[in-house]
Amino acid sequence: GCGLCIKACPFDAISIVNLPEELEEEAVHRYSINGFKLYSLPIPKAGQVVGILGKNGTGKTTAIKILAGELKPNLGILDRDVEYDEIIKRFRGSELQTYFQKIANKKIKAAHKIQYIDLVPRHLKGDVKTLLKKADERGIALDLGKQLNLDKIYDRDVRNLSGGELQKLVIAATLSKEADIYIFDEPSSYLDVKERINVSKIIMNEAKGNKYFLIVEHDLAVLDYLSDFIHIIYGDPGVYGIVSKPYGVRVGINNYLDGYLPSENMRIRKEPIQFRKIASESIVDANNKPYKYLEWDNVSISRGSFKLDVDSGYVMNGEVIGIIGPNAIGKTTFIKFLAGEIKPENGNIITYKELKISYKPQYIGPEMFQEGLTVEDILRNANPESIIPNSWLYLELIQKLNLNRMFDREARSLSGGEMQKLAIAATLSSNADLYLLDEPSAHLDVEERLAIAKIIRRLTEIRKVTAFVAEHDIIILDFISDRIIVFNGNPGIYGHAEVPKDTKKAMNQLLSDLKITIRRDSESGRPRINKEGSYLDRLQKTKGEFYATT
Ligand code: ADP
Ligand code: ADP
Ligand code: MG
Repeated sequence: GCGLCIKACPFDAISIVNLPEELEEEAVHRYSINGFKLYSLPIPKAGQVVGILGKNGTGKTTAIKILAGELKPNLGILDRDVEYDEIIKRFRGSELQTYFQKIANKKIKAAHKIQYIDLVPRHLKGDVKTLLKKADERGIALDLGKQLNLDKIYDRDVRNLSGGELQKLVIAATLSKEADIYIFDEPSSYLDVKERINVSKIIMNEAKGNKYFLIVEHDLAVLDYLSDFIHIIYGDPGVYGIVSKPYGVRVGINNYLDGYLPSENMRIRKEPIQFRKIASESIVDANNKPYKYLEWDNVSISRGSFKLDVDSGYVMNGEVIGIIGPNAIGKTTFIKFLAGEIKPENGNIITYKELKISYKPQYIGPEMFQEGLTVEDILRNANPESIIPNSWLYLELIQKLNLNRMFDREARSLSGGEMQKLAIAATLSSNADLYLLDEPSAHLDVEERLAIAKIIRRLTEIRKVTAFVAEHDIIILDFISDRIIVFNGNPGIYGHAEVPKDTKKAMNQLLSDLKITIRRDSESGRPRINKEGSYLDRLQKTKGEFYATT
């Protein structure tokens, strides 16, 4: 290896040779002697949206804090203070020189939407409208509130907001500030597809003139739609991260997926990430026919003043069913019904044997885990095989989610994102007949999302069982689903779940309701959202082909 890594070389020593000396000149920040180290920085560009793409723990938030002027970088020097003069000198000749001059002269004001918005209500008091008005230095807050559909909940206290409502409030407040750089750390968390597109359009619309915009985002369709340029951060999570040169967004994302960065001549992953779908083998019974695994009648469920109607449907064994629809439309209610946690007013589930259910609820908190249990304990209880190094589950699930690095930690002490990964790993490790996953990709990075998507497909195929997955990341949803249940109706009041449809049909319907079109990238085959009014957008709309599959 190159000697940089404390643990096993994540690249299997491929291509990282002779890097250390060159790289040391690029050191931007180090937290402590054996602490995480960041090399190089993204370059903000006036009037443009610059995206940042990379694994969790490789320094995205650290880089953002430095560019926001919230963290003074120490250039990796720990034994003395480093002043901005020295920092400016270090970036001499690059665009960052002027940028740091401005930071040093306090000429950069940053508006920063933090990653973990769950913490926000603890620091704020009041209703949505009052908070928006308070943030409103540009006189646009109430207009943004309307565009984000917050006007219906203007008198609601901030402590009673759902994750999506809170996210939209914080985004509107951030944009309402008078600032030089606007930063959005994972803006799509908790938002449904329509809201993700809506927020992207609003941000793109603001990114003009002299303002800088930086976005960290793991929903690739959103990052692609929103950004003009991207920087890729690669490295060893928790140990070091290296920021790449800027790439145009299409090429940059394709390079990232390929696992090779041409400008730096660097292989960042052994295998490419491929979103081309592997059709699941149809599983047959003794008479050589696929068989129904689970069926449900027309079902009605009431939850307070909310009502959900579900059209009757069935699932074949080995099939993965995607669930998509706006927030507050009854997706979680339906999953809880499948889990047997909610009794319907009418209708029922028909199964052909007793099904063992493994369920990951949407919201994961410390109360999910028994006090005193470590990550390793929880995984061992789910399935002892999962903690045996070199077992399939260990290699493909535990290691891909980086959980092996936190075996000794108490489950309850983990961060929100880490708890989410533990809950997913425990759910997928368990031997079950029916897997229910409610929004698994929340807080996960692109590689973690793909890892669990692959696991879900493999498990259902090998064990000939079934999974239902509610998901707002359309690339992941497309990848895992054999068929999709589309939910529509009036959020918060009435929901209607359709019969599971062929993935292409369901996506086409969803997108035509949202009035957006998706094409396929000619090289990687990944879905890309067309810009509104572009040639392809108009062409696909005339043809009624909202979701292109080739
Ligand atoms: P990302 O945003 O890509 O997930 P971060 O920049 O948040 O990554 O963190 C990168 C690494 O730096 C992590 O291993 C994290 O634990 C570590 N780190 C972050 N903040 C601090 C800090 N204040 N002190 C020490 N280590 C930190
Ligand atoms: P989704 O998962 O699609 O976001 P949910 O199934 O969680 O939607 O919720 C649908 C609607 O039902 C929401 O408006 C929610 O507030 C409401 N709801 C859910 N559970 C209850 C309950 N126990 N009592 C009253 N309303 C509820
Ligand atoms: Mg839900």
